[in-house]
Parts: sequence; structure tokens; C-alpha cells
Amino acid sequence: RGVMVRYVYDFTQGGRDMAGLLGGKGANLAEMTRLGLPVPPGFVLTTEACRAFLTTGGEPAGLAREVSDHLAALETTAGRRLGQPDDPLLVSVRSGARFSMPGMMETILDIGLNDDSVLGLAKVSGSERFAWDSYRRLLQMFGSTVMGVDRALFEEESARLKDVRGVPDDVHLGAGDLARLVEIYKDLIHDETGDWFPQCPAEQLRRAVLAVFTSWNGDRARLYRRREHIPDGLGTAVTVQRMVFGNLGPDSGSGVAFTRDPATGRPGPYGDYLPEAQGEDVVAGVRNTVPLTELERLDPGSCARLREHLRTLERHFRDLCDIEFTIERGTLWILQTRIGKRTAEAAFAIAAQLADEGLITPEESLARVSGEELARLMFPRFDASMTGAALAHGVAASPGAAAGAAVFDSAEAVRRAAAGERVVLVRQETTPDDLPGMIAAQAVVTSRGGKTSHAAVVARGMGKVCVCGAEELSVDVRARRFTAPDGTVVGEGTALSVDGSAGAVYPGSVPLVDSAVMRFLETGDTDGEAAGVVEAVAGALARADTVRRLQVRANADTPQDAARARRFGAQGIGLCRTEHMFLGERRKLVEDMILARSDTERDRALAALLPLQRRDFTGILEAMDGLPVTIRLLDPPLHEFLPDRTDLAVRIAAAEAHGDLPDPHDAELLAAVDRMHEENPMLGLRGVRLGLLVPGLVAMQVRAIGEAVVERTRAGGTPRAEIMVPLVGDVRELRIVREEAERVLAEVSAAAGVPVTCPVGTMIELPRAALTAGRIAEEAEFFSFGTNDLTQTTWGFSRDDVEAEFFSAYLDRGVFPVSPFETLDLDGVGRLVRIAVAEGRATRPDLTIGVCGEHGGDPASVRFFHTAGLDYVSCSPFRVPVARLEAGRAAL
Ligand code: PEP
Ligand code: MG
Repeated sequence: RGVMVRYVYDFTQGGRDMAGLLGGKGANLAEMTRLGLPVPPGFVLTTEACRAFLTTGGEPAGLAREVSDHLAALETTAGRRLGQPDDPLLVSVRSGARFSMPGMMETILDIGLNDDSVLGLAKVSGSERFAWDSYRRLLQMFGSTVMGVDRALFEEESARLKDVRGVPDDVHLGAGDLARLVEIYKDLIHDETGDWFPQCPAEQLRRAVLAVFTSWNGDRARLYRRREHIPDGLGTAVTVQRMVFGNLGPDSGSGVAFTRDPATGRPGPYGDYLPEAQGEDVVAGVRNTVPLTELERLDPGSCARLREHLRTLERHFRDLCDIEFTIERGTLWILQTRIGKRTAEAAFAIAAQLADEGLITPEESLARVSGEELARLMFPRFDASMTGAALAHGVAASPGAAAGAAVFDSAEAVRRAAAGERVVLVRQETTPDDLPGMIAAQAVVTSRGGKTSHAAVVARGMGKVCVCGAEELSVDVRARRFTAPDGTVVGEGTALSVDGSAGAVYPGSVPLVDSAVMRFLETGDTDGEAAGVVEAVAGALARADTVRRLQVRANADTPQDAARARRFGAQGIGLCRTEHMFLGERRKLVEDMILARSDTERDRALAALLPLQRRDFTGILEAMDGLPVTIRLLDPPLHEFLPDRTDLAVRIAAAEAHGDLPDPHDAELLAAVDRMHEENPMLGLRGVRLGLLVPGLVAMQVRAIGEAVVERTRAGGTPRAEIMVPLVGDVRELRIVREEAERVLAEVSAAAGVPVTCPVGTMIELPRAALTAGRIAEEAEFFSFGTNDLTQTTWGFSRDDVEAEFFSAYLDRGVFPVSPFETLDLDGVGRLVRIAVAEGRATRPDLTIGVCGEHGGDPASVRFFHTAGLDYVSCSPFRVPVARLEAGRAAL
């Protein structure tokens, strides 16, 4: 294109609003630089440069020039050149996408070291050991990341050298050993690639940058994006920043800090510090960190400044922030900041605190929590009386409770989970390579690392239970077992229970109890252990209820579910499926109805079903007294109520093999099953079609509803039943059923002398219904979108086979980022919804419109239904609080 594109920004030239271009990390570094915080200087290569590189496969024109200009500026400020032999400027090269993807892409440190500058670094730092150690780290990172040498080969070489020297650990290798290792690594790189490690600092920088760009499309990064629903097309920015060193002696170190506790939300700074270490060592959890109180003792000046900067950041960003910091010989540097990830508890607690402190408005406070987080808080915990003695304690890194079979590597976790087993992944520490196993597992346990280790950060992000740094466990990944301090050996496949809220690991499968939030939702009780969080949840829900326009109803078909839904705040029932009322011991009656040889026989069978249905409806209307209860007429194909064909055939064959005559009833059933067989029952004789074909079925169900209304009215209640017709595709189907329903209701009303009015409406769950909604609204007093069937029939995907193999291929290949059965497909199904809303209301302006497919409780879909102008969403009782919260957030 003709316009000059700019690919590089200095930290002094950007700000937080530029995250799309500079990535989250780059934008916030620029913001902190503006705020005057101590950030080592640097510059950012934009995501646009990355996209240009990834689409063309070549370095974008002009990029090299811009980089060298910015590097020159950096060198001027630093007063030394990149890799300058007597006093080298060194830089780090890090990825930084729009959305945080911790550990998923590459980082290369110490760029600028070579055979000459390592000597200069040794001299200016006063430590030969430090210089050689930095150089061998660069060779290792550059060799593997940029030049593609297997990481394990570097490890093997260093292990061999340690063997020769007879030392257990890297820290015991002296300057001479590390210098030797540098030679070994250089040869290794040459042997493996045929190329030497580049001695030219500018070339190191250029190749490191391109390697980070390339890592955007690495397997780990792609898997992470798929899971987090981050679009593949964004690309990553790259920050190039002057290195500062935390490993220059006892007055140096690195750490991670949060402005509040990210696990509980407790106010006040929270952090981990590792003296004499680089930042990577903290995140990797290689050694165990100390809390900030310890830093206070070691270096009170730096600690005070750190606290001050944390306050500045939280006030500025008006949210929980986390930072990475390094102290280089008593000087504090902030290397990055971002809005901190937090547990669901912490999200609610912090949102409430920040509003109380006046830092954010109550509306913002509502926007800061999500339905997904609320759902997480509703998870059960272990029954404390049943846990027994813990095998070990560690850091409570990600809350919740889960049990499963112990596994010791990612592949085994994936294998067992695919076979339907629940597993707990146990490792010494996790790396990004363990991601598939973490996704597959119910819980993660590590023996090393703090709340900011990889395992902890990733698990919290996923809402997965995690205990880390359980040091008492001696984990032997090779032997696939760990040993607890009491001598218990837990091998692969042994049941394990993990309490991520308490940081404890228990043997066996411990039973679960409801959460405090669940207890509050059920009883309104806000007292107890987790009172702070429960009150924050209560406050958020109350705010959501005052601002939301969408009503929330529940899908429920028993009085118990209806009552629970009501406690959870449901404003009625949006879908009462009547099919369950045809199961169990009533099956026989249904069989009689299906097998009836005459009208009289059928009427007799229907008459037997009538009182049972009436009793069901009465119970539900009582539980939901005063609120609307939408009862749907029978939907599934009738043969679903008959026995399995193979079972019948086997029974008959067995009888014959014994020389007996088969049971005539079995033979009759088999004939009926064969007669009613359909290749595509989901597209067959079901829904309104049954009502049109099976005489007396609609009348029986409507009579049961009408008589239940009479019974409830006589009992002094206010029953508000609504009759809903499923799978309508044409207005004439609805008209036929509606006329019959009104005739029956009039009869019931006249016979009882009690007025019975039940609105009659329809589900919109076929594309034809959506497209002819204007006509259908002539006969319908309300619409309810059946988005399960509407998705099935719009896409032509069978909703019963969504676990089909092509679905994961579709997710992998980016056809959709999430299953359309989970989150509504806005472009296709959503468009049909909008058409039906517009045309339905054009015919009947007061038409009530809701949704009762699974999407009614899906946070992203709730937002859409709000915008599309629906009156209510209806979802399973447990999702009612989630939908209330999301409907409130959608209205902000
Ligand atoms: C639907 O299709 O979305 C619906 C609610 O009905 P069912 O799931 O019972 O088919
Ligand atoms: Mg349906």
C-alpha cells in the first residue's frame, strides 16, 4: 500500500489504549513509562509487523530500518552499544499479544552476548560466573527457539558436565565450568544445525524477533487460543527491552507481585520474591520463593518503593494489577504489568471492594464479574468431615475441589480423560508442554512453585482446581508415583482428591458438599466462612436484577426443580418438557396408547394418563404460583417410549430357542417398533406432527393442564399456565392445534364453572418458522426460540452427535471458535432469531418472546438475546443465577 506503515514504537510513544497494536505487554510498558515508573527502556514491534511477516513469510519492508533506528536511540540512552565488547548493552526479546497468553510463546534473554562481550560483561559486573552463565543461557534459548535444537540436548550436555564435576546442581558449576559449557553448546548448535551461533548482536536481535513472531503459530499457542477463544489472526507484538539483572548477588533478585491477593481478593499487596534470580526462575517455580514480608527484611527501601508503585498502578488502572519486577543491586525495576488474572472468589471480592473504595462505579463493579465466574463459585467442595488426614499441603493456587486418578504426564492424562476417566495431573512443576494434560485433568498438583508458577497461573485461568508447591511430596515422574511424608506411595491410577481452596491433597475420593455461594442461593443465608465472597455475590446479583431488562425463567419439569429454580430467582418456567411424564412406570400406559387397535382402546389409555399428567401440572403450578409456567406439548417421536428393537428381538429369539412361544405382547411391540421406525427421527414424526396425527393426544394434555388450573384456582392459587406447541413450521399446524386446545379449555372451564385462560404459543425451532414468523404470530400469543433444534436444523448438524470427530476438526481449523450448540451462532441462527423477532412483533406488537434452548444460560448468548430484544431467557435451574448476572451485565 502507498501509505507508510509504522512498525516500531518506543515505550515513550505508546499507551494502554494501543494494546491492539503494541500487545498488552507493550502497551502497558508504555503506560508505565508515561506514569514515570522505573521501567527499563525499550521499544515494541507491532502486531501489524507480525501479521505482515506471517502472511508473506518475509520480513516486512522497512522493519529492519525502523528497528535499527530505535536500537540506536536505546543505545544512546544507555550510553553503550548492543553487545559492545567492553560494556555490552543486552536486551530481552519477548512476545506480547493483545490478550495475555502466559508462557505460550517464546522469550529470548541476554541478546548481545558473544565471545567478546561476555568478557566485558564479566568485567563490568565483577562476576565471571554471572557472565558465562548468562551467555550459556542465551545459547540455550537461542539455540532451541531460533535455531531449532532440541532443548533436551542442552540439558543432557549440562547433566554430563555436572556428572564429570561431581556436582548436583547448576549453582555448583563455577565460571570455568560454565565457560566450558558455552563451548560445548556452541559445538552442539553447530553439530545439530550446520550453522554457528551468530556472533553479530544485530543478527541475534533480528532472528530472535522473527522467532517470536513465528511462535504465534506454534502448537502450544494455537491450543491455548482455541481454549481461550482468542482469534488466530491477531498476531503478537514483540518488546525489546534493556536487560536488568536479578542474579547479580545478594542485593539482587526477581519477583512477581499483585496489588491484592489474586486467590482470595484480600486487600493489600501480595507477592513472591526470589533473591539472586532472574524472572524466569520465579515463573518456572524452579526454586521456592519467599513472600514480600521477607523482601521487606532483605531490602526495605525497594520493598517500600514496590508497594508505592503497586498503589499507583491500581489507582491508575482501577483494577487488580500484577507486575514482574527485578531488583538489580538495590535498584528496583518494573518489567511488566497487566490486569491480574484472579480466581472467581477474588473477582467478586475485588469488584465489591473497588466499588466500596470509590475507585469504580457500582455498574463497573458488575461488569467486572462474569456468569462463568459465578458458575465456578457454585461448584461443590469437599465434605470436611470426610477428608481425613491430608497427604500433603501446598499453595491453594486455584479453588474448588475435584477427585480423580493420579497421572504423572500430560499424555497419560489425555489418554485416560478421552476414555472418560477423571484424572489428577501430578508433576514437579508444569511447563507449557503440559497444557493438554492440564486441560484433560480435573485438578493439577505440583511439588514446586508458588501462586505465580505456570501451573497456578494457567489453572486459575481455566478455572481448574490446583495445588502447587506441595514440597512434602516427592514426585517421581519417571516411576509414575509420588511418596507422601507419611510414607504413602501413590502410583498411577490411584484415586486422589485435591482441594484447591485449602491447598490440600487427600487420598481417595472424598465426597463433595455444596459451596457457600450455593447455600446462599438456596437459602439466602450470607453468614459463615466465606461471608465476604457471598456478600459480594449477593451484591452483584442484586445490582444485576435492578438493571436487567431480560427476565429469567427456568427449564424445569418437576415441582422440586421448579421450587429450586424459584429460590434461585427464576421468574417463571420457560419450558416444562412433558415427555418425562411419559416415562417410568407410566411407560405401560404409553405403550397401550401406541398399540391401541381402536379409538376406544386409545381413549382408555389416554384417560389413564390424564390424572397423572394433571397431578404433575398441579404440582408445578403450585411451586410457581403467580408466575408463568410454559408447558410444552409432547415433542419426541413416540417410538422413543417403546423398548429397544434389539432387546425385543433377542427376547423373542431366546423364547423360540427354548421352544417356547414368544410373548404375544413382545411380538406386538416389535411390530410397532418396526412400523414406526424412522431413519431420521429428529426430522420425523415428532412435535406438532404427533399432535396432528395421534387422535386425542393434544386434547388429553390440554385437558390435564386446564383441570390443573381449575384445581389450583379452587385452592386459592394464581395459576398462570401457558401452552406451547413444539416444532411448528407453518402457521396452519399451529392453527389446528390451537383450535383444538381452545375447544378443550372452554369445555373444562364450562364444566368446572371456573374461568380458564391459557395463552397458546409456539416454539420457533425450525428455519421455516423463523422465516414465516409474521404469519405464525397470527396464531401465537408468544414465541419461544428452541435454539437447540434451530441450530441443528440451520446448520444441518445432528445435536445428538456433536461429539462427532468433525466437530473437533472444525474447532481446530477455526470454522467456529466454540460449538454452536454451546454459544449461539450469531451470523446464522442469530439472524433467524432477529428476523423472527421483527416479523413476529410486526404482526403482534405485544408478542412475548423468549428462548428456552441451552443457549438461554450461556453468558455470551444471553448478551445477544438482550440485544435482539427478547423478553426472557429460560435455562436450567442451576444457571438461573448465571443468567440473571449476565442479563444485568448485558444491560449496562
Ligand atoms: C430446543 O430445541 O431448543 C428446545 C428447547 O427443545 P428440545 O431441546 O426439547 O428439543
Ligand atoms: Mg426442540
